Amino acid sequence: MPALLVLGLALSGCGSKAPVADAGLEIAAPAEQRLIALTDLDQRVARVGYRLSAANAELCPAVRNSAGWLLHAASQYSPELRPHAEARFGLDGDLPGLLAVPEGSAAARAGLRRGDLLLGINGEALARGVTRRAAAFEGVEANIQKLDLALAAGPVEIAFRRDGDDQTATVTPQRACGYDVQLDPSDELNARADGKRLYITTAMAGFTATDDELAIVLGHELAHHVLGHRGWHEAEARGRQTQTLPAFTSAAGGAERQADRVGLYLAARAGFDTGIAPAFWRRFGDYNWRVRYPGWSHPSAEARARALEAVQAELSARRASGQPLVP
Ligand SMILES: [Zn+2]
Repeated sequence: MPALLVLGLALSGCGSKAPVADAGLEIAAPAEQRLIALTDLDQRVARVGYRLSAANAELCPAVRNSAGWLLHAASQYSPELRPHAEARFGLDGDLPGLLAVPEGSAAARAGLRRGDLLLGINGEALARGVTRRAAAFEGVEANIQKLDLALAAGPVEIAFRRDGDDQTATVTPQRACGYDVQLDPSDELNARADGKRLYITTAMAGFTATDDELAIVLGHELAHHVLGHRGWHEAEARGRQTQTLPAFTSAAGGAERQADRVGLYLAARAGFDTGIAPAFWRRFGDYNWRVRYPGWSHPSAEARARALEAVQAELSARRASGQPLVP
């Protein structure tokens, strides 16, 4: 457990912990507006995460069969947000509804759309569950597990409801990196990776002005997985007490520079405009003093911007000579 704790802190070094007032969600906004802001960000993160995962399957140590959809259920929302979620998205209990269906994903190719409510898979009904007052994930998680298990075996027949009409569709999954991308409601500017998932806070996702900028942040986190840094960080955490701090700091900074470089390749391979990365890092540094200056685990924002300019030149040279974009 202590190793995991240190690991969490180490990877948190990717972002920062500065609270912000004007990025992410406005806490005082009415419930429905908060729901809209949250689900809009969820959809952006799902869209960018899907493109990165699908385009980089061959580089990821863990892959899986993916429908590409983002699911949610009424039961996971607080009592305050739930009536709005039910009215806006047609949700019911633990049944998973499609919150995002990224263009080109297996779900989109099967004809599924945002707002469809999943009822069953391969002839077996999904559980609606009992109505509880407090937000609960167990019911919808069990349904999602059932869906993932069936998708792992190949094409699935999905029963779903659209505008009160029950229909079926066949989803033929595609190989993608095997990591969920999770949006965490928080006013901390942060993103991290733990070997199983990528996490980004609402404040950090909200700070990115475009999908290209969001892809720079999520690409960096995915790169930690591609580079096997989870194991690296655990080894570092165990060995840290016997090392001198400068040696550890320099090794950690090296990992961040590697993740910046490989992350840019991952974003480029997914078709994002990576030329904006240096300007993004300068804007982030201007906004947030914690990344402006070098920290124990990361170089300064300006140093990262300059290094990314070099990586961008490398990508352009590879494109010009017809070489594959393999980091
Ligand atoms: Zn990092």
